[in-house]
Amino acid sequence: MNGPEHIAIGAASTGLVLYGMSAAGAPIGWTTALAAVASVGLGSLAPDIDHPRAIIGYRLPGGILSIGLILLFLPVLLRVSSSSGGMFAGVFVQVQAMMGAWPAWGGILVAIAVILFLVSAGVTGSFGHRGPVHTFAVGGVATVVAVIVCAVLGIAPWYGLLFGFGWVMHLLADATTHDGLPSLLWPAVWPDSAGGTRAFGFLYIPLVLFGLTGWFFLTGTLSASTASPASVVVATPGLVLGTPNSGLALEHLRETAPSVAKSLFSAGMPVVAARGSYTAYTWQYIHRSGPSSVVVKTVTVTLDSLGRMVSLDQP
Ligand SMILES: [Zn+2]
Repeated sequence: MNGPEHIAIGAASTGLVLYGMSAAGAPIGWTTALAAVASVGLGSLAPDIDHPRAIIGYRLPGGILSIGLILLFLPVLLRVSSSSGGMFAGVFVQVQAMMGAWPAWGGILVAIAVILFLVSAGVTGSFGHRGPVHTFAVGGVATVVAVIVCAVLGIAPWYGLLFGFGWVMHLLADATTHDGLPSLLWPAVWPDSAGGTRAFGFLYIPLVLFGLTGWFFLTGTLSASTASPASVVVATPGLVLGTPNSGLALEHLRETAPSVAKSLFSAGMPVVAARGSYTAYTWQYIHRSGPSSVVVKTVTVTLDSLGRMVSLDQP
C-alpha cells in the first residue's frame, strides 16, 4: 500500500475522531479539522520510514528541504539584487519586514528534513521494510514521543495522539495486503503465520466508513464555524485583547446561561468594547425560535475591572 492510499485512509477515518470530539462538546472548526488531518496524515505515513523510497523518508523531506533552502537564501538573493537597483530594489523594500523570520524558519525546516533523511536511512539500514517499525509496540512508543514533542512545542497533546491514530490505521491497512504484517503484535506474537493479524487488519474498513460518516455529520458544524462573522474588535487603550478577559467573560456566560453559551458561533472571538470602566463582550448565537426556524441573536456579558459580571444582556 502506498503513501497516498495511507493518507486517504487516515484522512477519512479522522472524521470518526473529530465527530466524537464534537459530540463531546469540543469546538471543532476548519483549523482544528485541518490540523487533525495533518497529524493523522503524518502518522499514516510515518511507519514507512523503514522504506528507502517512501514519502516520509524521501519525498516529504525533499520538499521540506527545498522550502527551507528557499527561505534561507531568498532574502540574501533579494538583498544582493536590490543593491544593484532596478525592479528588485522595490520588491526588497516591500517584503523586507516580512522576511525577518524567514531564515530562522528556513533553518528549522532544513534541520527537520536532515533529521528525517537520517532517521529513514538509519531505520532502513538497520531493520528493513515492515520490520519492528510496523508493530503496535513501536507505534505506541512513537505516539508517546509525539505527545511529548507537542507538549514541548506548546501544541495541544491530542495532536500527538492523532499521530498515533494515523500510525495504527497504517498498520491495520498494511496487515490486509498480500504480504500481511505477521510482526504486528511483536513482541507478544512473532511471527504470526496463521494470518490472524490479516483478518484483524480488515478493521480499517469499518473505521474508514465510520470516519466518512463522521465527516458527513461534521460538515454542518464546520460550515457554521466558517460562516461566523469576523469579530469586530473595538480597540480600547489599556485593554489587552485575547487575554483571559474574554475567557473569563465566557466562563460567566457558561455559568449564567449555559444553553446560550453552547450555541455560540465562535466562543473565542467576542466583540470587545469598553463601557466606561467596564468591558462588554458580545457574541452571536443561534436561537431556535420554532420547530424548523432559527434566528441569530446576540448576547453581551459586561465585566467590571476586577472581572466580576455586571450584567448579561440578550436584546
Ligand atoms: Zn507500511
